[in-house]
Amino acid sequence: IVKNENDVLKAIEEHNIKFIRLQFTDIQGVVKDVEIPVTQIKKALTTGIGFDGSSIEGFVRIYESDMLLKPDVTTFAILPWNNGKGKLARIICDVYQPNGEPFKGDPRYVLRKITEKAADMGFTLNVGPEMEFFLFEKENGNATTIPHDYGSYFEFAPTDIAEDIRREIVLTLMDLDFDIEASHHEVAFGQHEIDFKYGDALTMADNVVTFKYVARTIAKINGLHATFMPKPIATVNGSGMHVNLSLSKDGKNAFYDPDAEMEISDTARYFIAGVLNHIKAITCIANPIVNSYKRIIPGYEAPVYIAWSGANRSSLLRIPVARGSSTRVELRSPDPSCNPYLTFAAILAAGLEGIQNKAAPKHFVDYNIFDLSLKERAENGIESLPGTLNESANYFEQDELLKKVLGTHVHDNILRLARAEWDEYKKQVHEWEIERYLNRT
Ligand code: ADP
Ligand code: GLU
Ligand code: MG
Ligand code: MG
Repeated sequence: IVKNENDVLKAIEEHNIKFIRLQFTDIQGVVKDVEIPVTQIKKALTTGIGFDGSSIEGFVRIYESDMLLKPDVTTFAILPWNNGKGKLARIICDVYQPNGEPFKGDPRYVLRKITEKAADMGFTLNVGPEMEFFLFEKENGNATTIPHDYGSYFEFAPTDIAEDIRREIVLTLMDLDFDIEASHHEVAFGQHEIDFKYGDALTMADNVVTFKYVARTIAKINGLHATFMPKPIATVNGSGMHVNLSLSKDGKNAFYDPDAEMEISDTARYFIAGVLNHIKAITCIANPIVNSYKRIIPGYEAPVYIAWSGANRSSLLRIPVARGSSTRVELRSPDPSCNPYLTFAAILAAGLEGIQNKAAPKHFVDYNIFDLSLKERAENGIESLPGTLNESANYFEQDELLKKVLGTHVHDNILRLARAEWDEYKKQVHEWEIERYLNRT
């Protein structure tokens, strides 16, 4: 375990590391990296490494483009692959302006700030993301949507020929200090899930990014394509990234109260209310691409209606049965195309606001919510998640809390990108339209 700069230098020496990848993420959660030979590591650790911020999506304009990467040494990890050209390590970095101030558009900075606010209130957010993804075949080097295997939920060998690759992903993650809890085949052909143990929000956001990087790399080494696209195939389940959440206070799970109704504390209820109050705007971050909205429709185990429940998986927020230190709420709407830093930051901010306002969560359902008719939902005041990126962008634009938490830089850029994406999509003429209207009209 690396704690300081000396540990980094020691590890480089001991493991004969030749190159270091300095990583950070853009506003859309895409990993960026620059590779430096180890000869540059002292410079990186002391002054930081410069880069052109204007070339990174959602960062800065050309005339203010000199930015610095400062390695967060605690994230040092040896990458288990190297192409035979020298051993590699990576360090996740914080982004700084040349004047020495942290860059407010750095997603890590945004998450750090809100976790500091939580700490002021005595809370630490614990996050346990469940990563779902597809493994697809490649043809002539290009990704297809042909599933790599024809297994189904929890199915194992010999049908599940992807098992070895999934295990290779798991082993690689373990090399990178992930505490893996389970991995299994998901419902759709070619679809998998790997779960790792929860931890603090920043570490888990780093882990989500690393997870995707590892899954893609191992798939590629095996001639496959791993995708975190939320809904690659229209007729089967999409991929979610359920987010399990709890707060700890003084080392105890603050969501657990053995004497309360359902054994969940008032803090948990307020947190849930806060998240539900902002979920339409949060959707623009947690479901950030046009395709995200093809997943959150009825019939595919993804949530649609804004409600919370006990163990019932049909609702947006549920409380899995485990209690004690495992007491948690599971938010089921996020998908793995999201930027995890911004998504966790937005959820935490909404939950903390609920706690500050002692908000009571509405719309508890203890039945399958998909059995309700439109009329029954309307009578119960149960609303739906936004149906398109454009709709969620409208809520996001109006959300003052998110504007404050993300800062105007990130808020403006997310909105700009969402609008641009939607405008581009809106112009397309889809195959479906041709099939449906070409002859009919
Ligand atoms: P599901 O019930 O949806 O199948 P899983 O068992 O796949 O859930 O995933 C559970 C996730 O919740 C794991 O990542 C686990 O580490 C996490 N988790 C467990 N306890 C807590 C907690 N107290 N706070 C946050 N996450 C937790
Ligand atoms: N793949 C489903 C989704 O889109 C979730 C399946 C599950 O409950 O694990 O959220
Ligand atoms: Mg799953
Ligand atoms: Mg789940």
